[in-house]
Amino acid sequence: MAAFPPSPVMGQMMDQPLLISGIIEFASRHYGAGEIVSRRVEGDLHRYTYRDCHQRARRLANALHGLGVRIGDRVATLAWNGYRHLEAYYGVSGSGAVLHTINPRLFPDQIAYISNHAEDQVLMFDLTFLPIVEKIASQCTFVRHFVLMCDRDRMPDSTAIPDLLCYEDLIASHSDQYDWPLFDEHSAATLCYTSGTTGNPKGVLYSHRSTVLHAYAAAMPGALNVSASDTVLPVVPMFHVNAWGLPYAVPLTGARMVFPGAALDGKSLYELFESEQVTFSAGVPTVWLGLLNYVLQNGLRFSSFRRTVIGGAACPPAMMDTLMDQFGVQVIHAWGMTEMSPLGTTGGLQTRHLALSQSEQRKILQKQGHAIFGVDMKIVDDDGKELPWDGVSYGHLLVKGPWIIASYYKQEGGDVLQDGWFPTGDVATIDADGYMQITDRSKDVIKSGGEWIGTIDLENLAMAHPAVQQAACIGLFHPKWDERPVLVVVLHPGMNVTRAELLQFFDGKIAKWWTPDDVLFVDALPMGATGKIQKNKLREQFKGYQLPA
Ligand code: ADP
Repeated sequence: MAAFPPSPVMGQMMDQPLLISGIIEFASRHYGAGEIVSRRVEGDLHRYTYRDCHQRARRLANALHGLGVRIGDRVATLAWNGYRHLEAYYGVSGSGAVLHTINPRLFPDQIAYISNHAEDQVLMFDLTFLPIVEKIASQCTFVRHFVLMCDRDRMPDSTAIPDLLCYEDLIASHSDQYDWPLFDEHSAATLCYTSGTTGNPKGVLYSHRSTVLHAYAAAMPGALNVSASDTVLPVVPMFHVNAWGLPYAVPLTGARMVFPGAALDGKSLYELFESEQVTFSAGVPTVWLGLLNYVLQNGLRFSSFRRTVIGGAACPPAMMDTLMDQFGVQVIHAWGMTEMSPLGTTGGLQTRHLALSQSEQRKILQKQGHAIFGVDMKIVDDDGKELPWDGVSYGHLLVKGPWIIASYYKQEGGDVLQDGWFPTGDVATIDADGYMQITDRSKDVIKSGGEWIGTIDLENLAMAHPAVQQAACIGLFHPKWDERPVLVVVLHPGMNVTRAELLQFFDGKIAKWWTPDDVLFVDALPMGATGKIQKNKLREQFKGYQLPA
């Protein structure tokens, strides 16, 4: 950690470290009656307050101490979005241990690999994941205690896991008297692994300081704009980059929180949105696809839902239009990554844009957005030379800021920074007003005859066709041009469009040579552990496919 030189005249304000425990302490003291509602794996809806959460988080901190967990030790979770997981967020990090949220959608072997790499001492998990944990328990060589996060009466009689502990028993047997320790705010607080589409997953180790600063910035107007009059339902899982920081940003604003548990299908989500009068939510585009399909097919309306953040993958403009025009839900397009805690940019208009036509405004909102304070960004060419902010020049996107990675856990991958900037692996433009637009991930860009074709534009265009539900564009080998774009498409049930009709749909909307060479119709696209289309799997699937002459 680089130390900076002191000034001869130092400020004379209190020195209070930015610690995660401070967030729940504040929420409990100042918004103590604020409600947290959770759909439980047990099936029912659970309700309690920030005050209750704080109390149980302190019991958990005592219980972990009793299990021998000490400052810096890793405690892992395999859990849905719910109140017990929130208690772990605060109980583990607050006590100085490191919360390692594992994505249960990874293959069991990958989970065991990650747990060993992280040297997790304790693994706490939801009942849903008992079969996975039974399978890998003997491989997780560092784990000394397995804790099942469920009620006593739901504990299984016998399992392959030795000395399985019941979370409720564990915390009930400990006091809620606990003073959160004070320590250096640069200490590690949480650990998330990237999904590792290429090679082994790498760990990103967030600090208390980075997490608290990110939470402040995420909550701000112009970013997620969360306030005490919101009811927030994070659909994005707490195992996907800490639910984009919402478990921290929401309590600090005092907003009401609703956790969906394991029921993430359109019907269950819609019912929860309505019964709990949710005003604000966040998730990847595939989640909204499921919710919108359900709502549209059943002719339903939202009675309270006002705003949503869509990120993690490009929000198709057609989806933004449906949410905004048909349902009056404001869409905030956001971009970020695990290495950025994750928030980098968010969409929104500036005063000068208010006079623009609705379609011009929509073009701005479709971009991945404007940097939030704390994040700086630039685009560079292959030689590292900075490119202009003209909305046209595209290049490698680099970022820096206090919640952006400096190096991976255990120094995997060595030095990752370029002159103090983190290369995101995304290719983007930035316009004169500072709005960034991702054209592609550098590994997905199609290189046709030495020129680049961005796949996101092509996918967005395809998804604007009424018959198309999902589209992914990949580059396939071409003897003359090296690579040419091919569209892989899933149609809406009961709808039809031919290859020729779909290709004709591109006419006049993009440069002729960008038009895909072919369209392949499939029943489903391969989805990764964070709900994103796995283009590497698609490229593998269609490797050797002969493009039409
Ligand atoms: P992984 O891809 O390993 O799941 P992340 O969840 O951290 O890791 O994904 C980060 C990447 O997701 C970004 O680098 C970018 O390519 C993509 N991404 C995130 N948000 C958006 C967005 N709004 N539009 C386009 N791509 C996005």
